[in-house]
Amino acid sequence: MTSLSKNVPTQNLIAGVWGPAKTGKTFAVLNPATDDELCQVPDADAGDGLAAVAAAHAAGPSWAATAPRARGEVLRKTYELMIERREEIATLITQEMGKALPDSRAEVNYAAEFFRWFSEEAVRIGGEVRRAPAGDKWIMTNRVPVGVCYFITPWNFPAAMATRKIGPAIAAGCTVVVKPAAETPLTTLYIAKLMEEAGLPAGVVNVITTHSASAVSEAILKDERVAKISFTGSTFVGKKLLHQAADRVLRTSMELGGNDPFIVCEDADVAAAVDGAMLAKMRNGGQACTAANRFYVHEKIYDEFAAAMTARMAALVVGDGLDDKTQCGPVVSHKQKNEIAGMVDGALAQGAKRVAGDPSAMPAKGAFYPPTVLVDVPKDSDIARNEIFGPVAPLIKVSSDEEALRLANASEFGLIGYIYTKDLAKGLRLSARLETGMVGLNRGLVSDPAAPFGGMKESGLGREGGFEGIDEFLETQYVAVEW
Ligand code: NAD
Repeated sequence: MTSLSKNVPTQNLIAGVWGPAKTGKTFAVLNPATDDELCQVPDADAGDGLAAVAAAHAAGPSWAATAPRARGEVLRKTYELMIERREEIATLITQEMGKALPDSRAEVNYAAEFFRWFSEEAVRIGGEVRRAPAGDKWIMTNRVPVGVCYFITPWNFPAAMATRKIGPAIAAGCTVVVKPAAETPLTTLYIAKLMEEAGLPAGVVNVITTHSASAVSEAILKDERVAKISFTGSTFVGKKLLHQAADRVLRTSMELGGNDPFIVCEDADVAAAVDGAMLAKMRNGGQACTAANRFYVHEKIYDEFAAAMTARMAALVVGDGLDDKTQCGPVVSHKQKNEIAGMVDGALAQGAKRVAGDPSAMPAKGAFYPPTVLVDVPKDSDIARNEIFGPVAPLIKVSSDEEALRLANASEFGLIGYIYTKDLAKGLRLSARLETGMVGLNRGLVSDPAAPFGGMKESGLGREGGFEGIDEFLETQYVAVEW
């Protein structure tokens, strides 16, 4: 077993001080490849949460008054430190989350890029001055930071889901409290330490780790000093938080679940579609909100696509993510593994056939689930309606583009959809009719810090990244001026 690097902080960060929870309670962080304990971290309670809010609140005015260039430079410096320490951070991500090292390295690059992008956006916060139509005054608008933000992040991208929120908030002049997922708290602590090293003043970013997400969050959201919540996680939890946020009319950004369709048209380049499908399905071992969840493949190319996909999935090397040969690591926990297994069993009971993936061939220790392909999946099966969040590809046969589109849109989710066709004009027409916040047109990977990430329908509210990302952390103030 590889032990944790001594550079990994295992205490909470509040007001620039690394320390335990006030109660002294801790909980274990596990390595899902081995089930071994990596370390203990503080189990913060509501009191610790409110101390973090107090720290963010105290640091707020001076951070908001800090020159945008200086704010950007802290982000830029942290970007450089993350790239410099990529191997150490990637190893840490794999240790606490399980994904294979190449996926973790890619995540570090992606996560760091949010800091680089928002270091550049910090100095481009706009405002305007214009004459009122009646000519009686000037309309002046200024963009001001929203204030203290509370961030709740998931375990699947422990670096990127944190930097995608921290980057724009810090650039905008906000101060923050971050609560990472209990499965993967260490990567966020590590990034906070790098920000400190890059010159971030005490209290601007505070990190609390807890096993009592609900109680701690409830106390934080009730606190008058908090102005905004940004959450990435399941739609189920997102809805609860929206109810709580309503009581204080908090600003909210919600990056929630998906049930992402992948459409392969009759005229698609099948080899390219399989390459894209492997990326869209297997990045992060299928544990991505952007993971293709249901494949709608035209009947004329279904068998060819299914055969190629089955061969590719069956050939993937499953193992400890730290092993150089590994292409697919364990899933994050036994709970997650059991949920995936239950969904696959349900699909088999509803008539699907498994053509790749044998759970009994997995190692006894660790939360391993095999890359799995299901064919002849009924269109109305449960697996086609629910987010799998694992390495399972259900292939559904369709007889037209219209049928694929209708099925794709028949969901309460609307995060991302994928389309493969050689006819780009048709692809653009279909994209426009997909009810999703993002579309991968002849591409299996769309995430880019310079692009707006987010969903329609129950997949969320607001956008992260791109030019839109910083808007989530700014209020517009209008001053009517006569001069
Ligand atoms: P989750 O909703 O269970 O947990 C997410 C976070 O919320 C964790 O930090 C958890 O501790 C916290 N949490 C749980 N219950 C809470 C409560 N009652 N009050 C406050 N906080 C609470 O989700 P998960 O299993 O960690 O992550 C998977 C989900 O996240 C999937 O649905 C996935 O699609 C979604 N996700 C979405 C995006 C996106 O950008 N749209 C990105 C990544 C993951």
